[in-house]
Amino acid sequence: MDLRADCARCAGLCCTAPAFTASADFAIDKPAGQPCPHLQRDFRCGIHDQLRQRGFPGCAVYDCLGAGQQVVQVTYGGQDWRRAPALAGQMFAVFLVMRQLHELLWYLSEAAALQQRGPLHDELSRAIEETGQLTRSSAEDLLRLDVAAHREDVSRLLLAASERARSGIAAAGGARAGPGPETGTGTGTAAAAGRRHRWTSLGCTRAPCGAGTGPSTIPLQVGICGSRCGRCPLAPP
Ligand code: SF4
Repeated sequence: MDLRADCARCAGLCCTAPAFTASADFAIDKPAGQPCPHLQRDFRCGIHDQLRQRGFPGCAVYDCLGAGQQVVQVTYGGQDWRRAPALAGQMFAVFLVMRQLHELLWYLSEAAALQQRGPLHDELSRAIEETGQLTRSSAEDLLRLDVAAHREDVSRLLLAASERARSGIAAAGGARAGPGPETGTGTGTAAAAGRRHRWTSLGCTRAPCGAGTGPSTIPLQVGICGSRCGRCPLAPP
């Protein structure tokens, strides 16, 4: 499962499917399902080199985690909403589900990397397999999926994994939670595993949730990174 965005194999889904609200992250209001005015016919961004200067820092930090190309290339076999406009609404709805599944896969992969041994490893592997299978479902099945319920299940597992990872580091005598945005370097669980987080004025650069770019859509209760980013809704208490 490739969790790296490949815009060349997508069809501008992140520039079209979600609604934007004019804010520090997006210069304009845009309804869901309408292409951003800067999206070109070839699905490239017309202001890619000037996103921050033009008032779109949210686009600069957004990451679909590979959901876009999964929808276009796998779910729809290479079709796109411009050539097949009858599919547009469904494709956008599927993208919003797929983005959540890829986000869960990202967290599960991070957690599994931290739990290469131990009682949760098998459970994390099963959750990765199950979530991966869901990403290969048909469009109809994806739209029928109770993604909130699946998130809840995964969230419980991630919470347990995070607690185990943090308690293991604490027991080893080297852990403390990340120092927060002021110091700019995470020293929590993920950093101990060699995954340093960085904070910028937009938040955590590794957060795949948009936490640094405005309201997050993530209902998860725990930050797998173990750091204390002031804006990250995933941060532990
Ligand atoms: S500004 Fe560019 S990257 Fe952002 S939504 Fe518009 S086309 Fe997409």
